[in-house]
Amino acid sequence: MFSIYHYNLLHRNTFGVEAWADRFVEYANEEELVMFVKTECKGQPLLHIGCGSNLLFCSDVSGTVLHSGIRDIEQLPCDDAEMVRLRVGGGVIWDELVSFCVKNGWYGLENLSLIPGEVGAAAVQNIGAYGSEVGDRIEQVGLINLQSGDSLTVPGDTCQYAYRYSRFKGEWRGQYAVTRVTLRLSRTFEPDLSYGALADALQQRGIGNPTAQQLRQIVIELRQSKLPAPEVLGNAGSFFMNPVISRETFEELQTRYPRMPHFSVPGGEKIPAAWLIEQAGWKGRTLKNAGVYDKQALVLVNRGGATGKDIVELSEAVRADVKRLFGIQIEPEVNFI
Ligand SMILES: Cc1cc2nc3c(=O)[nH]c(=O)nc-3n(C[C@H](O)[C@H](O)[C@H](O)COP(=O)(O)OP(=O)(O)OC[C@H]3O[C@@H](n4cnc5c(N)ncnc54)[C@H](O)[C@@H]3O)c2cc1C
Repeated sequence: MFSIYHYNLLHRNTFGVEAWADRFVEYANEEELVMFVKTECKGQPLLHIGCGSNLLFCSDVSGTVLHSGIRDIEQLPCDDAEMVRLRVGGGVIWDELVSFCVKNGWYGLENLSLIPGEVGAAAVQNIGAYGSEVGDRIEQVGLINLQSGDSLTVPGDTCQYAYRYSRFKGEWRGQYAVTRVTLRLSRTFEPDLSYGALADALQQRGIGNPTAQQLRQIVIELRQSKLPAPEVLGNAGSFFMNPVISRETFEELQTRYPRMPHFSVPGGEKIPAAWLIEQAGWKGRTLKNAGVYDKQALVLVNRGGATGKDIVELSEAVRADVKRLFGIQIEPEVNFI
């Protein structure tokens, strides 16, 4: 176990904001974590992090910040010759897993290429991109209760996966460390081109029938062209979720904003938050040291030296203007700590 007191989290969050934790602990395996919870932690607050690519440290963290060092990938027996079952350590870097799977001919994760973060967090966040969500591939999640130190395994279909949501963000929030995730992948490659921009990008490149590697490469290129690299400009990807509004509200708004983009989803119409923010005049603007990215209004960035509080202040100003203009409440996707 690696442990250090009074730890600077600056390089543990992709916003690149400074925050201090009383203690930082990285466990190498389940036994170390159980031992820590049962003997050392003594009820003090625990915060489990991955790469910090969806966190905003608004202040220092009292208690211990935990990080997983479980980085093995194990192939499990599978009764279906067409499928592959992998049990993956929570500390494995997500995109390294995607790359590994594509190279081995295990398919289903290609559209989720290059999403920052670790496998444990992917199961918490239900990461999604280009029409695909990881929750659809999760068979089981291995957990350790952070109060009792008990180990348990829960089936993926009890985790309530939905758009950027899981039970780990709801009633189970903060209660468990995700130590391992079992994924069910296919040995047959069937590209998921349900997302228009991905299909268009393939068409533009004259690729009719992509290989998994080609699809992965195009996803990577699209992402790199749209999103700032956190090493260059601190950010946490999409800061806000796309709101879903009732059909009546949408029809009323459409009379005022005939060009308002929308997608029909169960329960109403989903409106791209980026469009709302842009209409509210925030795209490219800066407040103190935080700003709205000029190429993608959904992304808030650290323009250099921003504190967590600067970013919160900016996000509140953006939300207030969107609310004033459209009557729509946009909610942060990023976890405020
Ligand atoms: C440039 C950029 C692009 C992005 N694009 C996307 C995208 O396309 N789609 C998408 O869905 N997300 C995207 N994100 C957000 C982010 O990549 C995901 O939310 C990712 O899953 C976060 O992983 P992480 O390891 O950094 O977790 P962290 O940000 O460290 O933590 C996220 C949450 O998970 C919890 N957590 C982390 N690890 C564990 C664990 N082992 N056990 C229990 N709880 C844990 C934390 O407490 C926290 O609540 C993007 C972020 C960036 C910076």
